[in-house]
Amino acid sequence: MKKIATIIGARPQFIKAAPLSFEFANSDLVEEMCIHTGQHFDENMSGVFFRELGLPKPAYQLDIHGGPHGQMTGRMTEAIEAILMGDRPDAVLVYGDTNSTLAGGLAAVKLHIPVIHVEAGLRSFNRNMPEEINRVLVDHISSVLLCPTSAAVENLRNEGISAGVHQVGDLMYDATLKLTPIAVKHSRILEELSLQPKSYGVATLHRAENTDSPEALRKAIDFLAHLSGDIPLVLPLHPRTRQALARAGISVAADRLKLIDPVGYFDMHVLLSNANIVATDSGGVQKEAYFHKVPCVTLRSETEWVETIDNGWNRLWSQDEYRPRREIREYGTGDTAKRILEILRSA
Ligand code: UDP
Repeated sequence: MKKIATIIGARPQFIKAAPLSFEFANSDLVEEMCIHTGQHFDENMSGVFFRELGLPKPAYQLDIHGGPHGQMTGRMTEAIEAILMGDRPDAVLVYGDTNSTLAGGLAAVKLHIPVIHVEAGLRSFNRNMPEEINRVLVDHISSVLLCPTSAAVENLRNEGISAGVHQVGDLMYDATLKLTPIAVKHSRILEELSLQPKSYGVATLHRAENTDSPEALRKAIDFLAHLSGDIPLVLPLHPRTRQALARAGISVAADRLKLIDPVGYFDMHVLLSNANIVATDSGGVQKEAYFHKVPCVTLRSETEWVETIDNGWNRLWSQDEYRPRREIREYGTGDTAKRILEILRSA
């Protein structure tokens, strides 16, 4: 058995971890130990996902959130290092591009523990994004780089990284395929919000580039308010965005733009699968719109998920038109967790 320490901390990481943790738990290969950094910590950003996705209770629950990036990352690195020095896992597995990802990667590589990066190779080529810095750095200290798409493999090749690179598909697709039927059984969100299927849109907004300055936030809210003139929108509001709206003194006037608290995975997937349109600056939600075959508008000037644009399911808010629609095969068939397990077997 290989002992793998998995670092999670933010909402999208709980979702990516769910299919892989399940695969590990049912294998004779991996003994997994989860470290939850606490980056997202409350019921509707963390607790609900553990319950709905059936995630194992973390072996270590840290309580590190808030503060500037350097401080948060530094505190996490210190705490994770202490755990790794005691437990000495065979590898450390990190997901995506958050401060928890960078902290886990740094702590591990300095202790000469191999780093496995899930969602390696994604690039926005926008170094103003904190996520872009995290991704680039973690890819350069990883031994096993698990890429969701061919574009991600290509990006790594362009940075001189080819050893340990594997294209495996998308874990969020595994989760969507497995959990949407269960979500449909459990969620009452359409009734609660008095929504009819295919008569509304779903929006999310939380990237720093859209929330850090009052001007950017105003522009994004105006865009959504305008869109809500065509179709009513539901906007489950990330805590960062709620704080930013309050700080900037922006009140949302459009009555067809409905702000609600963040929802759990089941409610989100019922909302997405019945929507006519998705407007988002989230990475995960752009793909999930495609998984449910709902067109997406991305509230950013670039995206890492270029195949959603190339195949006509997504457009940037600066673009007026969608390209011709084609199926995207790169995300796999819901078998990404299994593929990762096989790669780790031979790694
Ligand atoms: N999500 C959710 N409830 C919400 C908003 C998002 O369950 O109120 C899910 C969404 O379906 C996706 C994930 O959270 O699976 C995306 O996370 P987020 O947008 O926070 O991060 P990103 O993908 O941009 O890194």
